[in-house]
Amino acid sequence: AAAPASIDFASMDGVDLDHFWMPFTNNRFFKQNPRLFVAASDMHYTTADGRQVLDATAGLWCVNAGHGRAAITDAVTRAAQTLDFAPTFQLGHPLAFRLASDVARIMPAGMDRVFFTNSGSESADTALKMALAYHHARGDHTRFRLIGRQRGYHGTNFGGLSVGGIGGNRRRFVSQVWGVDHLSHTHGQAVRFCRGMQPGNGALAEELEELVALHGPETIAAVIVEPVAGSTGVLVPPQGYLQALRDITRKHGILLIFDEVITGFGRLGKATAAEYFGVTPDIITTAKGLTNGTVPMGAVIASREVHDTVVNGSPEGIEFYHGYTYSGHPVAAAAGLATLGLYREEGLFENAAALAAHWEAAAHALADCPHVIDVRNLGLVAGIELAPRDGTVGARAMEAFHRAFDAGLLIRVTGDIIALSPPLMISAAQIDTIFGMLREILNDLA
Ligand code: PLP
Repeated sequence: AAAPASIDFASMDGVDLDHFWMPFTNNRFFKQNPRLFVAASDMHYTTADGRQVLDATAGLWCVNAGHGRAAITDAVTRAAQTLDFAPTFQLGHPLAFRLASDVARIMPAGMDRVFFTNSGSESADTALKMALAYHHARGDHTRFRLIGRQRGYHGTNFGGLSVGGIGGNRRRFVSQVWGVDHLSHTHGQAVRFCRGMQPGNGALAEELEELVALHGPETIAAVIVEPVAGSTGVLVPPQGYLQALRDITRKHGILLIFDEVITGFGRLGKATAAEYFGVTPDIITTAKGLTNGTVPMGAVIASREVHDTVVNGSPEGIEFYHGYTYSGHPVAAAAGLATLGLYREEGLFENAAALAAHWEAAAHALADCPHVIDVRNLGLVAGIELAPRDGTVGARAMEAFHRAFDAGLLIRVTGDIIALSPPLMISAAQIDTIFGMLREILNDLA
């Protein structure tokens, strides 16, 4: 048989932009003004026109160990050659079990049962269903309500978008899921330019008591929050807030889910935000940094209590009617094993922790730049909020995004907020480069 035509990995020759309907993209604009990457290594992307772009967003908050790491790509190659696919429904393979153990090892004490998914969205929906299954297994059949938070992002599947708090994502789609309510978001307008966590604001968590009183505790299954909201512009919680949510949920028999799709795997300088804040939920969702973004994969980590209740409390047979063809996929599991190995061997979480103060100072140095109305930060995350242009929310930040790309810097924008979350292998000098370039861009921006 003839050898298949080889794939041209890094060239634009013959590339047609018409067929790919791009996600979360202004397709009409992009296809008139395409910006493409063809390669990546360590802290940099290479564009189709051969320029280097410094990655200040770890791809999409996922490439925590930096790009093109040989330990990961070698593991992926070997896994694909050894066992391209194996089902995990009523069967198994060693890599998925090995990775589950490695993940469990870095989770908070008592959280050591791992369910694999393929994305953050799937992790969110899996966690919500797990919470419902938990109450059901306990014979607690009236707990169906799920509480999310305004400006929360839990992906785009029906469960996650329902508990999520982004109007644009929910409108038109949300009627599919009922019994959902939302807490207020935690971003205090009064506390602009706050370094790290905001001062405590007990009232925000107390709102949960109000929702409990409104709906009845016996109807609420779970509360899901991002410990630090990422996608809606880096909203850092006030001191004591997450612990207060923990206390209130525990008091009422409600499960607490932390969506750590962004905060997991070192973003705050610890394996999880749960560890960073010293607050242990019942379920943690992850994705992104689990495999360094190399192969899609997510993981939902349940407490022993949640797992054992579902597994031991169900009738003989399948205990949890949920899963994906690719749950624990061997190639993704190999990527995960190699990624966690890199985090350990290179001390990348520790590097993030060591650089957090430098990062904070560099971010807040932009406070005097034109248009900047707030700067927020924690660990290796920062949000720089710009004043919107009259009548066109998001236009100013989007222009900053395009200018940064053209100048050789990858940032992320959401509304008029610039969100930054570099690979954890970053150096202090590269942090200075990022904020130095941003300063120039902001100074030039209309
Ligand atoms: N949850 C959080 C907190 C996220 O930040 C994201 C993605 O940014 C998701 C869920 C969804 O992840 P995915 O895009 O992999 O489905």
